[in-house]
Amino acid sequence: MYKNIENLYESFKEARIKERAFSYELWLSLLDEWKQSPLLDVSEIGQTYEGKPIHQVKFGVGPIHICAWSQMHGDEATATMALADIFLFLSQKGGDLSELREKLHQKITLFIIPRLNADGAERWTRETALGIDMNRDAGKLNSPEAKILHDWAHTINPLFSFNLHDQHRLYSVGNTTHQTHIALLATTGDESGTWTDSRLRAGKLANRLTKIVQEIYPNKIAKWTDEYNARAFGDYFQSQGFGLILLESGGAGWDLEKQSLRKTNACLLLDAFYAIATEEWKTEDIATYECLLTNERNIFDIKLINAPLNKNIRADIGLNICEEYVDGKIEFAWTLEEIGDLSIYSGLTEIDASNYQLNEHETIEKGKNYSSLQMTCNNQITFNLIDYTNKINQSK
Ligand SMILES: [Zn+2]
Repeated sequence: MYKNIENLYESFKEARIKERAFSYELWLSLLDEWKQSPLLDVSEIGQTYEGKPIHQVKFGVGPIHICAWSQMHGDEATATMALADIFLFLSQKGGDLSELREKLHQKITLFIIPRLNADGAERWTRETALGIDMNRDAGKLNSPEAKILHDWAHTINPLFSFNLHDQHRLYSVGNTTHQTHIALLATTGDESGTWTDSRLRAGKLANRLTKIVQEIYPNKIAKWTDEYNARAFGDYFQSQGFGLILLESGGAGWDLEKQSLRKTNACLLLDAFYAIATEEWKTEDIATYECLLTNERNIFDIKLINAPLNKNIRADIGLNICEEYVDGKIEFAWTLEEIGDLSIYSGLTEIDASNYQLNEHETIEKGKNYSSLQMTCNNQITFNLIDYTNKINQSK
């Protein structure tokens, strides 16, 4: 089913969303359109601390309840873009995927909160307006948004639930050179990591999703460590029997706006809903999922090997792209993250700089942001950071 959905993705892609930090005005107009759809039931279920409405989008009349929410961390919007695609798909009529839509409609009921931490989304911060990390608030429920999420899920009592996040772009699959594109976790609901019925449901579905992602992005899928954290919603909801899967979008090379991962999210979630509606998830075991390596931090964007620090000294240099949120837009810059023996790490781009010289007036400084940096060999420019900035700009 995944391939069928992926082949038709362009027919339901919400083309007005082009980047992660899309405007609140656009979001409100999309919500208005979804409200007009006879197939979607959009309702306000509460408000953020600053009074922004929190919406539930409901679809289907089936007996199997599924919950999903996105952007409990305000600066993690990849899955929200995918949910907009999914809402467009669910509100369409006919088309080559009409049987899928009809099956979902009859067999399951979807309850989805997109862009839960709307205050943080507008500031582009992980935390809520009160500075609270919602995903460490599952026990105390100090933030109004966490209380809403908690009460909402308990009312629905889902068989499966999806906690949708973005993770740092530079996590690696174990200590390999592979950048984690997608990470999954069938969270644990207790200290000893018991495979309860709820966790096993999540694990079996994660097993199916793992096999799909391995085909699209070989070796670029990881899992999170399954240490129990009672303050995290994923772990708490597993303890309540909600069949919880954590789905994280990581990095995707130079696709810094993560439109490729948005597509993967949209198609994966629809495939997962299909597997739940048809009960195909029951035929899975958890072996493939269990074999996934965990997320580690092993890579830099650019690793310059044996680079000049000045006229006399050489060492490896690790340069990373960093993001800044300026006037409603994400801007990218370079930061010099590490200097020294970086032989245990790898770079998405690796350059042997043994014969390079530092251009006059350039300095190498840990922690400094760079807009330009040039190195030469035989008086020719051999490394020019601008070339890589151009790659960033091309990805927009
Ligand atoms: Zn997150």
